[in-house]
Amino acid sequence: MKPSPRLCLIPAAVAAALTAAAAAPAPAADEPERRVQVAMVNFTDSRIPDAGKLETALKDNYFGATGSLTSYYNEVTGGATTFKAAGDDGIAGPVDIDLAATGCDTGKINDLTRKALAAKGVSEDSYDHLSLVFPSEKAGCDWLALGTVGGGTTWMPIGADGKMSMTALVHEFGHNFGYSHHMRLRCPDGDLGEGCEEDGTSHKTPMGGGGWEAGLTSPELLHNKWLTGGEVAKADKSATYTLRPLYGKGSGVRALDIPLGDDRLVVELRHESGTVDGEVQGVHAYRVPDGDYAKSALIDPTPDADESTGGDAPADADALKAGAKLSDEAQKVEVEVTKAGAESATVRVSLDGVAAAAPAKAPEPTKSEPAGAANDARPEGSSNDARPEGSSTELAETGGDSETTLAYSVGGGLLLAFGGAFLLKSRTRKAATSASPASGRHSR
Ligand SMILES: [Zn+2]
Repeated sequence: MKPSPRLCLIPAAVAAALTAAAAAPAPAADEPERRVQVAMVNFTDSRIPDAGKLETALKDNYFGATGSLTSYYNEVTGGATTFKAAGDDGIAGPVDIDLAATGCDTGKINDLTRKALAAKGVSEDSYDHLSLVFPSEKAGCDWLALGTVGGGTTWMPIGADGKMSMTALVHEFGHNFGYSHHMRLRCPDGDLGEGCEEDGTSHKTPMGGGGWEAGLTSPELLHNKWLTGGEVAKADKSATYTLRPLYGKGSGVRALDIPLGDDRLVVELRHESGTVDGEVQGVHAYRVPDGDYAKSALIDPTPDADESTGGDAPADADALKAGAKLSDEAQKVEVEVTKAGAESATVRVSLDGVAAAAPAKAPEPTKSEPAGAANDARPEGSSNDARPEGSSTELAETGGDSETTLAYSVGGGLLLAFGGAFLLKSRTRKAATSASPASGRHSR
């Protein structure tokens, strides 16, 4: 078998070990700034061999102007939240904790490191996220990386080469923001009734095998209120809506949020922008169970599983083409893509069996119109301050309990047992517009 470059991520319920006392308070969902503190950690029996070298690499990985954790999230949140280094440069340590590496005691690593940092004057008030970087050699953790769902802690074991998987890092921070793994629902012929079945991951986000080459999905952005005001059209009555790509400059509707019984349906258009979405193209729809945007799943209406995302099919094979319909007869909801261009899409939404009127007087943007300049025409019934329901305090609430009960791990030992692949792509990200040298920070 050919060695696979893929990393797989396992939803292991690494419970209990995470101590509530050591949990950082979850940042408020609408907090405009998130400060990231990295701590290099030495065990009694295992130490970081070259802390100076590692510190340099970590500055690049976490805080580099391009190709870093913070540049990724600053890009995808479009300035709705600013990610930055806590304190002076965000890197602390190495701190020595009174714990042997063996056994990989995540709760104690977290607790003792926070205490050691506090003793050095780095208090928990000074950061929103703490990322624990420690030598993997003797720790024997059976995952590649770990993050609390909600809360603000990540564990990143480092091998002798000092390299870190950027996809894993971005993914674990996604868990910190409250996101679940991102799955795909196969709904043949777009029937949203009883027939949908979960089948693999969505490939539309770092939370679902898309790698950090992909942006976040619109439901994920909605969960953290990183789409606001006119960027979201809440479809509360039948109308036709124009979407512009989820990422990129300009104004216009970036996500369409549609009621579907107790659930919601979110529709977006993806197109390459900056460093993200080179391979995530076209119109996609997501089902949001009970209005919980952190738990959405891609709706894939492709009749034949082999032609859809899954394995190595083109990433946009499951995109909704013009003419594609999603419908739920019982809920009397029908969504039809009437145009699926690279720069804009139109979507007709019919609720309660009422046919959507044609997009009255709002002219369609022309094909040559640059991205984001798309028309600002708002469909009837939409409102500029429309906010999705239920997203205001979820993150904070999630942070409470889940810090102690839920975590996800990435990597090694359990891979074959479960076969889950939440982290697939890890090849080098496209350089944006930077002169950033191709460096070791793109670990694969
Ligand atoms: Zn995960």
